[in-house]
Amino acid sequence: MDTFLTITQILETLKKNKITPNKQLGQNFLIDKNIREKIISFAEIEKQDIVVEIGCGLGALTGILAEKAEFVYAFEKDRKLASILRNKIEGLSNIKIEEKDFLEVEEKYFSSLKTRVKIIGNLPYYIASPILFKLLKLRKYIKLAVVMVPEDVATRIVAKTGDKNFGVMAALFSLFSHCFIVYRVSRTVFYPTPEITSVIMKIIPVEKFESELTQDIFWKTLEKLFIQKRKNILNVISKSFKIDKNTAQSILEQAKITPTLRSHQLEIDQIVRLVHLMSKAKLKNFDLTFKGKKI
Ligand code: SAM
Repeated sequence: MDTFLTITQILETLKKNKITPNKQLGQNFLIDKNIREKIISFAEIEKQDIVVEIGCGLGALTGILAEKAEFVYAFEKDRKLASILRNKIEGLSNIKIEEKDFLEVEEKYFSSLKTRVKIIGNLPYYIASPILFKLLKLRKYIKLAVVMVPEDVATRIVAKTGDKNFGVMAALFSLFSHCFIVYRVSRTVFYPTPEITSVIMKIIPVEKFESELTQDIFWKTLEKLFIQKRKNILNVISKSFKIDKNTAQSILEQAKITPTLRSHQLEIDQIVRLVHLMSKAKLKNFDLTFKGKKI
């Protein structure tokens, strides 16, 4: 059952249910079927796929996903929208509306699904970055993600070494996934029209990452490395990790990094070597606290 609504049907539904789209929840509804088709085709949905949709809203994607996949778990934080869609799909046995904040879903929810899922969603803009980070953390449960996100967030994720946007997000995503911007979307495909441009991203998690270090250690060490982007890397690591300059210099030498580089100029393999060395340094009681907590 296709649950896509035209702009006229959306306006009628909102009026009938006395709802005004909630800006704070990032409620911009997709009104262009072509874009919907693009999202579905990028996700290459197959009959045996289990799909987790984030922010199903009034169902622009939900119904068609359920037609193509084995099962759809559709998350929606807004109680009213969840209830409208739940009523509409009554009787359909392969959609479950999860009336929950996606950011609060625990790992055990995904492990209980017993198979890797495809993540689809027109993400609520205000929490696009935390959702993407969450997906990265959950990557072992995810086959791929096709998500609509604000262009500036996507740009920070796909940035390469040397770009001014190359930072924690880009480094983490390039370590733990293959990710691409696959389509730029006009603002007019939504009602209400958002102020920002969106893009569709495809993210394929790296299945096995060869390192004894956890993603959290990478994450937290990177946060420290990229904290002062204008300073050279020698100063950054000696200040952020509170180690003397000679030791910092020797770590950089071992990591084959020129001390005058800025953090956004580091290549991914240099970052990996540096994080491993910093982590070893932890064993010798160097300060690896982050935001007041030991990492
Ligand atoms: N999928 C629908 C569409 O394409 O028309 C709606 C997309 S709209 C950009 C984002 C949706 O996410 C809204 O329905 C909003 O209520 C919902 N949402 C906002 N914050 C959420 C959260 N933390 N967890 C789950 N859903 C959320």
